[in-house]
Amino acid sequence: MAGKIPRDFIDDLLTRVDIVDVVNRYVPLKKAGKEFQACCPFHGEKTPSFTVSQQKQFYHCFGCGAHGSAISFLMEYDHMGFVDAVEELAHQMGVEVPREEGFSTGPDLRPLYDVMQRSVDFYRQQLRNRPRADLAINYLKQRGLSGEIAARFDIGFAPPGWDGLIKSVGAKEQDLKRLRITGMTSDPDGKCYDRFRERIMFPLRDQRGRTIAFGARIIGDGKPKYLNSPETPLFHKGKELYGLYEVHKALRKIVRLLVVEGYMDVVSLAQYGIDYAVATLGTATTPDHLDRLFKTCSEVTFSFDGDRAGREAAWKAMNVALPMMRDGRELRFLLLPDGEDPDTLVRKEGKSQFEERVAAALPLSTFLFDQLASQVDTSTIDGRAHMGQLAKPLLERLPEGLFREMMFQRLNELVGLKRNPPKRVVRRVASGSSGTTKRVTPVRKAIALLMQYPELAQSLADVAHQEWRELEMLGIPLLVEIIDLLNQRPDLSAAALLERWRGRDEFSSLQRLQYYDIEIDQGHDSELLGVIGILQREWVRRHETSLLSKLSPSDMTDEEKASLIKQLSERAALQKKPGELE
Ligand SMILES: [Zn+2]
Repeated sequence: MAGKIPRDFIDDLLTRVDIVDVVNRYVPLKKAGKEFQACCPFHGEKTPSFTVSQQKQFYHCFGCGAHGSAISFLMEYDHMGFVDAVEELAHQMGVEVPREEGFSTGPDLRPLYDVMQRSVDFYRQQLRNRPRADLAINYLKQRGLSGEIAARFDIGFAPPGWDGLIKSVGAKEQDLKRLRITGMTSDPDGKCYDRFRERIMFPLRDQRGRTIAFGARIIGDGKPKYLNSPETPLFHKGKELYGLYEVHKALRKIVRLLVVEGYMDVVSLAQYGIDYAVATLGTATTPDHLDRLFKTCSEVTFSFDGDRAGREAAWKAMNVALPMMRDGRELRFLLLPDGEDPDTLVRKEGKSQFEERVAAALPLSTFLFDQLASQVDTSTIDGRAHMGQLAKPLLERLPEGLFREMMFQRLNELVGLKRNPPKRVVRRVASGSSGTTKRVTPVRKAIALLMQYPELAQSLADVAHQEWRELEMLGIPLLVEIIDLLNQRPDLSAAALLERWRGRDEFSSLQRLQYYDIEIDQGHDSELLGVIGILQREWVRRHETSLLSKLSPSDMTDEEKASLIKQLSERAALQKKPGELE
């Protein structure tokens, strides 16, 4: 990432792009009246409640509330970050994303991605270099890997020798620097060497398919057996999952993910048609990993060796996951027979038997209570009480919800203790879905009107009295900001307008107001003018009160006296209308 992406560029992009084309590329849309419809890609349904508005340039699902611009769509549908979504959209439109000077958010990483891609090309080409690559090819063949799978995962071969990659990428000072920053070389005694030698190379790709790191397995008996890229500006091992990019490529809809320990497991499983496996690269599971997994799908199964070390790793992963177990998420544990890993097992058993194991994996609840029960003697009261003591702090880390309640209930059954059922959390009705849950203040109504029909801002240009802008009232600064923005950029669509608030506190409430069902008696523009009129009269009333509260006219400045007289006469002219503010 070089500089910040200029605001105007994002405005222009969203003004030029047609969200109908963008969405249609992923979800076929049907025309229905003025809008377009499909079954929602973000929640399961049989009758379409997902609509795309060409005029407003946003999508909205009446079933699950998914809502946003073309950028949001790419972020949600393809699990991209904001910058990636903007770049993808720009790419689809055939334009280059400019970067602001002086607002640099970090060094330009493009040359680093470039070095990684050239490394991938080099290793892949080396895999075809017979007879030097014979050992590597034999290894892959022994593992039953086809050329097709090797190509899908871009598997390569790092030849023996100290500088094969350096010679291929370039030995100029700048090249060496980039090789060092990306962790492709190491320099133990001040001299630069290829980090990876005589190894099978597994590139780890980010969500856009760019290689950011390598996992590498030795051929033969050298040490260490597995060697991974170090942390670099491109690669944060606590966040990345090997194989996730390939899962996205292979499957349109990801129902479940299987987390395994090694990259060879991921590749072997894919060879057998199990193409929903991912692995962490040289690190234990982190909250960031889990976050990414659950953002991809709601069902996650961890596989671990059945030995003691495997169980301990599973227990650790469960501990990380507990605070993230919101209702609707499902976590399971697959403990494999001793001495087996997914790679050996799937080759021995084949796809269907392995998938039966996955289906029979222990739910989190069973795993947790089984593990605790194995530590105490549940046949005695003392043992059961001890189990209660061990379990309680764990269950307390679960977020509020049905799952947490059920876990406490299960614990009570197991330890045979009575406990008052926990108080049910009263779910608040989502505001904005019906008009009665939240009072519609004039300010909210004005903002909702502008968020839905940005073109209305033009009708405010001729309003004579604008003092309402100074009202000290919740939402006024936001309303003023929206109007000022729309005066500068009258071409903004509703979606582009909302996009301006991404990352700010107001984003989600503006998003809700964008599909808030506004009660309209008259035309939209007179409705907006009416609301602004109410605000203006409120300003007049407050101003008047503040002037009148002065002790006597003699305490007023001449200016204030003049203002009062002017206002009193204006007030007579402005007939008070029904629906005024209190
Ligand atoms: Zn939906």
